[in-house]
Amino acid sequence: MKTSIIKIKDNQDRSDQQKIRAAGKIIREGGVVAFPTETVYGLGADALNPDAARKIYEAKGRPSDNPLIIHIADMEALEQIADSVPPLARKMAERFWPGPLTMIFCKRDVVPMETTGGLETVAVRMPRHPVALALIQAAGGYIAAPSANTSGRPSPTLAEHVAEDMEGRIPMILDGGAVGIGIESTIVDFSDEIPMVLRPGSITPDMIRKVTGDLRMDPGLIEENSGVRPRAPGMKYKHYAPRAELILVSGAQDKVQEKINVLAREAAMSGKTAGIIGTDESCGCYGYGIVKSIGTRYDEETIARHLYGILREFDQQDVDVIYSECFSAPGIGQAVMNRLLKAAGQRMIEV
Ligand code: AMP
Ligand code: MG
Repeated sequence: MKTSIIKIKDNQDRSDQQKIRAAGKIIREGGVVAFPTETVYGLGADALNPDAARKIYEAKGRPSDNPLIIHIADMEALEQIADSVPPLARKMAERFWPGPLTMIFCKRDVVPMETTGGLETVAVRMPRHPVALALIQAAGGYIAAPSANTSGRPSPTLAEHVAEDMEGRIPMILDGGAVGIGIESTIVDFSDEIPMVLRPGSITPDMIRKVTGDLRMDPGLIEENSGVRPRAPGMKYKHYAPRAELILVSGAQDKVQEKINVLAREAAMSGKTAGIIGTDESCGCYGYGIVKSIGTRYDEETIARHLYGILREFDQQDVDVIYSECFSAPGIGQAVMNRLLKAAGQRMIEV
């Protein structure tokens, strides 16, 4: 299959609107289109068409028990697919939609089991990106879209990343340039009485609590090593991973740099190339390997934005091992660490 890669800015001029209509038509006819959102690129198909949803799993090589998020463009669409929307969830929608928040509800029959991976609940998000919103409308109102990467690989934050994984597998990629946030949406489950965070993202627990009061964290998320099964099926897989072994080094900043220098030197001595993930502040301290800055510790959002891109760059440079500093700042840093630990298969050295 030939994949057209179509540059698009937003939904303002006639040429962009034409492109969105063409992409919407592919989805309405049961096909799959990759498109930008503010979090990462999505791989979209008609959420209410079981055959279309199946095509997403096929293109990604995604396990069929890992449900898809349905993207909507207005609140009426929510009423059609969610069985009941609790008042707290409505307040959350008022505060955070459109935006990087996914909420889980009991589903209505119109949502096929193919989309929800066999679950009776459905995950819903209203994205903020103008191309995503326009595409949802052009496609009939309900787009099922996971991240547009091959299952297990880092999520795509550029159309080039999507092409790396999806070229030849889907008919169209809408290229809207670099995404703004760079990490997948925060997922909050409203299918039980007390809301529960199933996946951390740029909307933090503190921000959510201001709206909901009570909030729980999925125990499978906190004690990731304890064998508790996460409630979001996707969180149980080793995920977001580069091809090279990734090892995190945690502790006081000077000790971390010292340790990474020792490890990278050892790698070099044994004929291996190490990749190092540091920051604008620390990169100058490293003397071995290929050193990349992920962003600045003075603005943790820059770190989220570059995380997946850096992992993919190291793949292209074919490094043998990657050593990374840790970035556990109180805001989006929590989500960054969640993804980094998964990418590293939980391998972390404490110094
Ligand atoms: P992705 O779209 O690739 O970011 O992945 C979607 C994430 O949402 C995965 O971790 C899924 O397991 C999770 N998810 C989707 N629907 C549900 C649901 N009904 N209940 C729990 N988790 C869900
Ligand atoms: Mg994903």
